Amino acid sequence: MHDDRSLVESRLKRVLDERIRPAVYPAAVPLEVSVWTAPGEPVPVAEGLAAPRTPIAVGDAWGAPWGTSWITVTGTVPEAWAGRTVEALIDLGFDANMPGFQCEGLVYRPDGTPVKGLNPQNQWVRIAAPAAGGEQVELHVEAASNPVILDYHPFLPTELGDKETAGAEPQYKLARMDLAVFDETVWQLVLDLEVLGELMAELPVDGARRWDVLRAVERALDAIDLQDVNGTAAAARVQLAEVLAAPAAPSAHRISAVGHAHIDSAWLWPLRETVRKVARTTANMTALLEDEPDFVYTMSQAQQFAWIKEHRPEVYARVKKAVAEGRFVPAGGMWVESDTNMPSSEAMARQFVHGKRFFLEEFGIENEEAWLPDTFGFTGGLPQVIRNAGSKWLLTQKISWSQVNKFPHHTFLWEGIDGTRIFTHFPPVDTYNCSMKGSEIAHAARNFKDKGVARHSIAPTGWGDGGGGTTREMVAKAARLRDLEGSATVRWERPAEFFAKAEAEYPQPPVWVGELYLELHRATLTSQARTKQGNRRSESLLREAELWCATAALRTGLRYPYQELDRIWKTVLLHQFHDILPGSSIAWVHREAEATYAGLAAELDALIGAAQQALAGDAAGGRELAFNAAPHRRTAVPAGGALAVAAPDGPRCTVGARPEGGFVLANGLLSVTVDGDGLVVSVVDLATGRETVAPGTRANLLQLHPDFPNMWDAWDVDQFYRNTVTDLTAADSVTVSLDAPDAAAVRVARSFGSSTVVQTLTLHAGERRLDIDTEVDWHETEKFLKAAFPLDVHTERYAAETQFGHLYRPTHTNTSWEAAKFEACNHRFVHLDEPGWGVALVTASTYGHDVTRTVRASDGGTTTTVRFSLLRAPRFPDPRTDQGLHRFRHALVPGAGIADAVREGYRISLPERRVTGSVDAVRPLVELDEDAIVVSAVKLADDGSGDLVVRVYEAHGGRARGRLGTSFPLAGAVPCDLLERPWDGTRGEVVPDGDGVTLALRPFELVTLRLTPAAG
Ligand SMILES: [Zn+2]
Repeated sequence: MHDDRSLVESRLKRVLDERIRPAVYPAAVPLEVSVWTAPGEPVPVAEGLAAPRTPIAVGDAWGAPWGTSWITVTGTVPEAWAGRTVEALIDLGFDANMPGFQCEGLVYRPDGTPVKGLNPQNQWVRIAAPAAGGEQVELHVEAASNPVILDYHPFLPTELGDKETAGAEPQYKLARMDLAVFDETVWQLVLDLEVLGELMAELPVDGARRWDVLRAVERALDAIDLQDVNGTAAAARVQLAEVLAAPAAPSAHRISAVGHAHIDSAWLWPLRETVRKVARTTANMTALLEDEPDFVYTMSQAQQFAWIKEHRPEVYARVKKAVAEGRFVPAGGMWVESDTNMPSSEAMARQFVHGKRFFLEEFGIENEEAWLPDTFGFTGGLPQVIRNAGSKWLLTQKISWSQVNKFPHHTFLWEGIDGTRIFTHFPPVDTYNCSMKGSEIAHAARNFKDKGVARHSIAPTGWGDGGGGTTREMVAKAARLRDLEGSATVRWERPAEFFAKAEAEYPQPPVWVGELYLELHRATLTSQARTKQGNRRSESLLREAELWCATAALRTGLRYPYQELDRIWKTVLLHQFHDILPGSSIAWVHREAEATYAGLAAELDALIGAAQQALAGDAAGGRELAFNAAPHRRTAVPAGGALAVAAPDGPRCTVGARPEGGFVLANGLLSVTVDGDGLVVSVVDLATGRETVAPGTRANLLQLHPDFPNMWDAWDVDQFYRNTVTDLTAADSVTVSLDAPDAAAVRVARSFGSSTVVQTLTLHAGERRLDIDTEVDWHETEKFLKAAFPLDVHTERYAAETQFGHLYRPTHTNTSWEAAKFEACNHRFVHLDEPGWGVALVTASTYGHDVTRTVRASDGGTTTTVRFSLLRAPRFPDPRTDQGLHRFRHALVPGAGIADAVREGYRISLPERRVTGSVDAVRPLVELDEDAIVVSAVKLADDGSGDLVVRVYEAHGGRARGRLGTSFPLAGAVPCDLLERPWDGTRGEVVPDGDGVTLALRPFELVTLRLTPAAG
């Protein structure tokens, strides 16, 4: 037979586009349209409904950037349409190629009842089926004119990302506003032909099935009268029935589809707009659930449920009903889909605490899966957090975005730094916005790496970010793909149903050990430094507030601020969303974040101050007390306690000028030589005589790189940035800024480009640590600023702190996997050592760093260079990212073992606080006799029982045995999960012994204890 394949395929495309799809709505009459433009921010629904309207016509421009227009459409169903299905078609000026990321609307009835969302791929509102004829139609649309930030030419700088710079130019033109007859038979024919056409394109050309489908499509096209599509569509469908009924092969891949809309909690829109995006999408999804009995929808992020509960109670009532029916499924059990690289141990834990608790309290549901489809990499600390939260599965799709290496599994056990293994699935469909296209379904089946031992994968299905979620067309396609020859099978299923099946069919999945590093978006560890600092500061202040408020509550009866801490935690958790903390949102989001963090800091400082004053006693007592919130004793001040300030003993600090320029700082522990350029040429650990700085190099060298990635400006730094570098060696001045017995400091001022930097290098008495304070007035564009420390250390690996421990990364680039990690995340420290001697670098607020190695020609020694990433200056999506003043604090700790790195990391983040009072000391509530067991949190139990909750972990990576003693009479001590529920999952030993608990922990093991004080 002659090969006419492309002829029939081209015919299918043209007839569908030009004749069949237009016939879905064979008759239409225009609606009357009027509008009211809200003067500023969104108004309450009642106010929008009541506002006076002025007429507007199709083709008219509307909608200043970030504005809200209340659009009213009215009309009458023609009598001639009696018996037909009638829909309103409301096109606000959508670009259907871009579902989401543009204007959107929520439709209300005149009484304020929400109907559904309006989105580029979802413009219909059902009026009547069947219509009686003569129905009066009145609908109101709360239309948001969110500007398009990410366009067909993506990543161009734009001023549209903040209402303060966006201007008032209308962004959209009203398009179709009609009442129309909906011909369901034609609509079904469109879906038959789409499914078969898309399937056909994926089938092998030499297979019979492809030709069976082709001939059936041809017969269907022959059966259509192009002048009477509506009259002949049913006959055309008859021709397709047989090929649509042919069942899938027994070996077909099995896809669990779940309706979904990945809604970023802020990104190319501000937080307040996400509230409305979620309302529109959930209105759509609850409506779709009512229309489609097989459909299942899942939504993650407890915060988004909380928003609709607060702001759109009518929509929330529908959500609650659908959740109770088991068809609207809360997923993930986290407060938001957070970044996981940067949140602290406690913050990562609290994401699950607050997420799971919300779902438990609102719906009585406990999730067992973590749902993070879009997060930019996963730390080795996360598996233990997931397990301690009472969950056991993880879903993400993001690692498929890695630029270099293809991950070898889709279903596997992921093992974290402590040995916890989590059953993990990467959907092989490689998207969290599946639309049930044949190409996606075929890709999932082909791409699935675990064929032969497993058969199931999941496909989150629907448009996110204001695209409106799953469409009725996707549901119709899924129905056809349920059991179709040549295709994977598709069933709507809850995530837990999928995970249970996947786990059952794959009892011995492969294991991946260590972090799931995303080989992309590496600059999200640095962009928007003030947002990152706000996060780190908030995390530290929350630790202090919980500790001192709990101590004051138990000791003095001061009210514990449960509500305040709950609200502040949720705000901090929200800002750890995977486009806020990573710095990839528009200017508006980061401007607000900075103000929010400042407000939280003031509030937390006040809580801390009140608690410490209650503990210190009357300020008239005149005794100065030092409070130490860090988990290790600081000079004589115990961890978690306070002590009257004493003068430091030991050798005094000195600073002296060098004849060749520069200065030498010394304190009996370190001798630091700063040259005439203000660079550190030597740091000698006086106890061992060991030099820290590699010969022939200079440390604390600021280096400036051009930084213009190929795409994703705020997210990405591309490897080639390293090819060009400017060393900032010229100093404007190098002077002694402090020469006192207890501290000595040298101040170095530099200018470069349009920017200036002042650094202060300080030694304190009794501390084996060089503090480096950096103040940058940053006015560069598309540059990357790093601070380099070339160290005389030979090592193949270094440690970087993560949640509840640290992980190791290589210093070399033997393989493509190692080479791809050219920018990585640390929390408070990185540490590298040779047996017996090491160096830690600690940081109060930065996360990005790189480590490289060279071998010196001069002596054959190895120089291992650690560089902290300080600032970038991308221009998209915020055209002025990071401009202005920044302050950083880092420190170099020579002669540091891992224990020193852990301790100094806490110290730099938790400076002592001085309070004047009347007591001599404040005894800690709990005391540990083992350095490796570190307190992560001390707080009162969230249930208000008055119990004390203490979370500890083994921080050195070894076994630790120790005793946690309490300074109060102890009635009971119970190991708990993160939600503070009694839990037998703790693997180490926890043995209560009167007024304390003996602990034996495995490497990096975390244990949460609920301690009940004895009555009286
Ligand atoms: Zn996202």
